[in-house]
Amino acid sequence: MRSLVLIGHGSHLNGESAAAVYRYAEMIRARGLYDEVVEGYWKEEPSLRQVLKTTASTDVTVIPMFISEGYFTETVIPREMGLGHQGPVPPEGVARVLGGRTVRYTLPYGVHPSMSDVILARAHEALPDSSPEDTALIVLGHGTTRNENSNKIVYQNAEVLRQSGQFASVHALFLDEDPKVGTWPEMVKAPRVVVVPFFASEGWHTLETIPEDMGLEGAVTTFTDNPHGQQTVYYAKPVGTHSAVADVILHLAEEAAGASTSDGDTERVHGAAWSAFMDRARQGLRFGEVLVQPESGMFELRHALDEGKPGHELQTLVTPEGVRDFTRRDEGGHHRPVHTLRNMPRGWRAVMGEADLVRAVQYLYPAVIEETYAQSCHTLRPTPWATTARRQTGIYARVQKATPEQLEEVAADVCGGCLRTRLWAGEKLPQTFFDGVPGAIPCAEACTFLVAEVREEVAGKRGGGASHSH
Ligand code: SF4
Repeated sequence: MRSLVLIGHGSHLNGESAAAVYRYAEMIRARGLYDEVVEGYWKEEPSLRQVLKTTASTDVTVIPMFISEGYFTETVIPREMGLGHQGPVPPEGVARVLGGRTVRYTLPYGVHPSMSDVILARAHEALPDSSPEDTALIVLGHGTTRNENSNKIVYQNAEVLRQSGQFASVHALFLDEDPKVGTWPEMVKAPRVVVVPFFASEGWHTLETIPEDMGLEGAVTTFTDNPHGQQTVYYAKPVGTHSAVADVILHLAEEAAGASTSDGDTERVHGAAWSAFMDRARQGLRFGEVLVQPESGMFELRHALDEGKPGHELQTLVTPEGVRDFTRRDEGGHHRPVHTLRNMPRGWRAVMGEADLVRAVQYLYPAVIEETYAQSCHTLRPTPWATTARRQTGIYARVQKATPEQLEEVAADVCGGCLRTRLWAGEKLPQTFFDGVPGAIPCAEACTFLVAEVREEVAGKRGGGASHSH
């Protein structure tokens, strides 16, 4: 049995941030090469702290869904996942045995050599008849002064494509460092120019900053009086959203497995947690805001406050992804980065078999079954706030300065709306939904949403209520 874990950044604010990772997970799941494909996030759930315990097997490959190496792939992800590694990841990846699981952590997909094929595919989409006679290629990176690795990969890909001889010239240009994208009319001589953004997703940069800096008016723009004469620019979509990235992910995963041919086993504790959950589900169970009831060999899930409502008054969902997408926002349309906040929308029901029920529950309440089962077995170990705060780096390091009063004020506000009980703050939870107390769900460690709110408080930027300003 093998698990593949895709790690994305996620967002406390933007519900679309995780969409690319969802999409690749679905594409890879459909190929059936792994027993499960699990998603984990820095700012959503399951969090980097939780994601390993949500995997069902003892053989886990973790792929950072980032376009370049840097702070997240080298510092944040390995630290939060407890991989015992910091700094550049070697080409063969990092392998560790953690709590009975063999975990392989790879380089981010963006640095895989086959990304030059993805750049080429994007270039051909934008200009199918490009030619080495008259077409230049610009590989456009973000660039940053913080991490030199982020530009290295853009230069490497530009060099590979230059060597391929398919373009009159190939240029590596950047938004945030020299050579800057705005210098292209002086640098590029060819009359036709294809621009491929080496970006993970469509967003502010690809939709606004790049077109503005280059003077583009759409997918095709002609400039009549550039220093080297008339030039037409063909603007491609970002590499990170190309479907071929799914192949790159699978290459990375297979390379990380190397010569190892043995598959893992079912992870025992994970298996026990879900088997205990299914035992309860077969008898009908309330947990959190959800009600699950057996129904003619299938299961029906709905919001507990919709109990007794006729089915035709509710929207019927039939896939785990449908449940995920319906409950991703609250009834006011706001993104729900913390699923245990008491704001799950009502008005839906899902009818599904056992395998889909498990996946739907994983989307509704990521890591909740595993952590609550551990709490009921007295094996869930809380992480005190001081430890969580000490671990923070970068812009979050300032939470170490939070006074106990500031922490309590923010926690009362944020956690007050959450179903979880703060074990990390010394609260007790003698029973859980496994014992028939629907809202009893443990919180072993302050989530990144709370950490971000505490940071706002320390910075003096937090108003009343969850500020959502990060
Ligand atoms: S830290 Fe607070 S808001 Fe975050 S999961 Fe725990 S109880 Fe909920």
